[in-house]
Amino acid sequence: WFCEHGHVTVARSTPDVCCECGSRDLTRDPDVLDTWFSSALWPFSTLGWPDKTPQLATFYPNAVMETGFDILFFWVARMLMMGTHLLGETPFEKVFLHALVRDADGRKMSKSLGNTIDPLDVIEGISLEDLIKKVEAGLPPESEREDRRRRILDGVARKYPEGIEVHGTDALRFTLAVLAAQGRDIKLDISRISGFRAFCNKIWQAIGGVVLPHLPQDPAPVTDPAGLELPDRWILSRLAQTVAIVNPALEEFRLNDAAMAIYQFVWHEVCDWYLEMSKGALYGRGGEARQEAASRVLLTVIETSLRLLHPFMPFLTEKLWQELPRRAGDPESIMIAPYPKAGDFAVDEGAEHDMARLQEIISTVRTIRGENNLPPSVELSLKLHMTDPEAAARIAGLKDYVCSNLTRVKDLAFVDARPPVCASCPVAGGEAFVPLTGLVDFEEEIARQKKALATAQKDLAAVQAKMSNPKFTANAPAEVVEENRRRLEDNAARVDKITRSLAHLEELAKGQG
Ligand SMILES: [Zn+2]
Repeated sequence: WFCEHGHVTVARSTPDVCCECGSRDLTRDPDVLDTWFSSALWPFSTLGWPDKTPQLATFYPNAVMETGFDILFFWVARMLMMGTHLLGETPFEKVFLHALVRDADGRKMSKSLGNTIDPLDVIEGISLEDLIKKVEAGLPPESEREDRRRRILDGVARKYPEGIEVHGTDALRFTLAVLAAQGRDIKLDISRISGFRAFCNKIWQAIGGVVLPHLPQDPAPVTDPAGLELPDRWILSRLAQTVAIVNPALEEFRLNDAAMAIYQFVWHEVCDWYLEMSKGALYGRGGEARQEAASRVLLTVIETSLRLLHPFMPFLTEKLWQELPRRAGDPESIMIAPYPKAGDFAVDEGAEHDMARLQEIISTVRTIRGENNLPPSVELSLKLHMTDPEAAARIAGLKDYVCSNLTRVKDLAFVDARPPVCASCPVAGGEAFVPLTGLVDFEEEIARQKKALATAQKDLAAVQAKMSNPKFTANAPAEVVEENRRRLEDNAARVDKITRSLAHLEELAKGQG
């Protein structure tokens, strides 16, 4: 409002008098638009409207509008009304309502609760001291009682004792995509972002460190998958399946499904299995033709994975993609490279089936090693007692892969009955045995486990005592009680595990004696 002297009065409700001279002759500014009114014009006013600019012709109407559901009526509906009225066309076809980000406990983020997480602090990191200063500055000073203030700041110090580490843009972006399940709010916990930062590091190390030096200089595509080894055919088939999941997920805005499918594929299939299985071939241990084939498959898998990942991790993927060998005429940036589509690769059911078998056997051998404390340097014999003849035939065909560096198994045999003094583990269609005679000193192992059991029981008793104290459970902060409850469960599980393995050892020792 203006008075006759031109003084400006700003107020939440209609003022009676000028705040400077007290005049009652006030006029409201006639040239004001409601904020949502100007926002309603945003889809075309930003493009030069009402002039017929090339920008307007190119970008109006747009395809997708992305926003929060809380301003659906304030903003989205008004953009639609204005667009229809002034340009005769709606400004977009689809509206994607993204999830709202809440704190780890599901509370709305607000400065007065001191629970906001600044994305820049997650990306670049912040010391505890600076974080406390920032939270403190956000708390409303005069209205706060001192003890509440203290409690909020102590909570921050407890939650982030070392401040927040550097996580990088890609890790934050990927985490938000993974957590963006439709119709659900995001509970943002820094530990989740740290988990996906580990994924970024894994990709960096695996591709940048292990793979790059072994890629072919002339990147010709893989032409005949039929002539390839099992791991090669398998990973190309898994790639086909992943692309087939990711594309419809993106079309339907299930960003979390797309991100998780890529995560599973890259970490658990490419890094955990394929790289391990093809390392020998890449280093030339299987001869030149094998090395050549494996490196071509690897390049195909890595290059396609980076393109799949690019929308979720723009920086890391671009940097690595630039390092890959390229042919004349290939795009200059991964940004403008075509997105992988279903049909680029074929699914190979047979390879997937065989590989599932092989993975089961390898995991079984690793479990047996772990349970019996057999280090990787000790070579094992594997005996299989199969009730399913078809399963037996398949495994027999995979013998070279079973007896390899992956398992350190030196020989594989099929048996009719359980061999004496051995560790065992069920597999689909039968049971696997590893003879332990000469490999395990039962006396020593039993003594070691008994000692571990005593420690575990002591730890368990300590947490039990704490948790059965009503004063502790009533007065300690909820997250401390929760942490102790978790420790109680973990310790109980540990005691249980050692007890069982001890009983197993004692039984084996008896069999040997
Ligand atoms: Zn005045």
